Amino acid sequence: MALSLIQGYLINNTYKLEKAAFISETRQSISRIDDLSPNLDTINDFWQNRFLNVIADYKIGSISKQQILPKFDSITNIINNLYIKTYQKDLRERNIDDNLKFQKIIKTIILLDSTQNDTIFKQKNNQPFHLIGDKFSMDEGHKVSNSLWLTDHSSDRVINGEMKEISFDLQFETEDRMNIDGWKRIVLGRMALLLLISILIFLLVFGLLYYSIKSFITQKKIADIKTDFVNNITHELKTPLSTLTLATKMLKSNEVISTTESSKAIVNTVERQNVRLQKLIDQVLNNSLGYQEISLQKETVNAHTYLNMIVDDFQLSLNDKAIKIDRNINTKQQIHIDKFYFTTAILNILENAVKYGKDQLKINISANLDKDFILSISDNGLGIPKKELHFLFDKFYRVGNKEIHNVKGLGLGLYYTKQIVKAHQGKIFVKSEINLGTTFTIKIPWQKW
Ligand code: ADP
Repeated sequence: MALSLIQGYLINNTYKLEKAAFISETRQSISRIDDLSPNLDTINDFWQNRFLNVIADYKIGSISKQQILPKFDSITNIINNLYIKTYQKDLRERNIDDNLKFQKIIKTIILLDSTQNDTIFKQKNNQPFHLIGDKFSMDEGHKVSNSLWLTDHSSDRVINGEMKEISFDLQFETEDRMNIDGWKRIVLGRMALLLLISILIFLLVFGLLYYSIKSFITQKKIADIKTDFVNNITHELKTPLSTLTLATKMLKSNEVISTTESSKAIVNTVERQNVRLQKLIDQVLNNSLGYQEISLQKETVNAHTYLNMIVDDFQLSLNDKAIKIDRNINTKQQIHIDKFYFTTAILNILENAVKYGKDQLKINISANLDKDFILSISDNGLGIPKKELHFLFDKFYRVGNKEIHNVKGLGLGLYYTKQIVKAHQGKIFVKSEINLGTTFTIKIPWQKW
């Protein structure tokens, strides 16, 4: 953020400097253009002579002060187009940008007198009088130079039938101004390299920031998953261990030893808990295998028979007879799989459907074999929040919901299922809608079944 502000400040400063440099270069190249150009000189002579006549009219009282500027305006209006064309031609000859506009404005007109000066015009509040050239406002242009025209004029005029000599001293202050339409484009063009580098640096910094935040979040997630796993496994190990402690204590006590019946029962408990501990450890060890470590022994099986058999066995193992399992197994073709592993993968999904299901659970298992073998297992259970779906197949990942954490698990089932599917060169997808249910789809690509 701070870096972007500094960068913005530097770019702004460079922009101002480049703009100032550009204006000063242009100013230099066009300054005194009308002094150096003979054609413009002639035009200037024309309006200056006419202006002097107007002032003389004022001096003899044949026009008022207010009429002077409108008269000036009508004089320059006649020659304005010619003036513009002439200086544009001159600019082209000097290789100055075509888009440049040029104007002269009047700042002051004063009739000088030894006793009292007579101010005919004085620029007020940044409101000058446009003399000749292009029309643009003060804000749109930049000053090129000031020029002061000082002249003493005398001429003869007939007043009331008498010839009289009129003479006056005039101070006529003007300012040359320019306007470069395309200056922004030109200045930005000069800054292109700087802008490009700035954008690249900005993107780089932003990219790095994004990357660090992203990896921080991932690290945090991994740390959370690890903590969860340690909590889960400790919880799982606690029950058999405390039973074992109790059983050993009882075995030590004399009364128990004397009765063979109870000692037999305790030994049985010890054995059972031992088996449970062994199973837990095996589950962690086996289900942690990556797909490269799984060596398949594929065989050709009839998809219909094989899948029905799995579902039949699964249905038999269920205590809750109210769970409904629909089947749409639309293939009688052969598939080439490792039966042992593939069954584990399917059972993991089916068991989850029951574990994370609701009352009146319905499971649908459908299979199609067109080109690819596609197996879908849907349930109408709790569903999974969208933001969790991304991590679902990660090792030890369990959905972070208290309600769900009442169900035992180590977060290995879906990880292992994915590894098995991957070992078969397949893919697994999940779709879920919270409170509506979840669908897992396994797709094994076409291979001469
Ligand atoms: P475990 O069941 O041991 O926690 P899994 O890897 O099998 O681990 O599943 C990971 C998580 O995915 C589960 O903790 C559960 O929150 C969620 N889950 C899996 N299957 C379903 C399902 N059918 N419906 C709702 N949630 C599910």
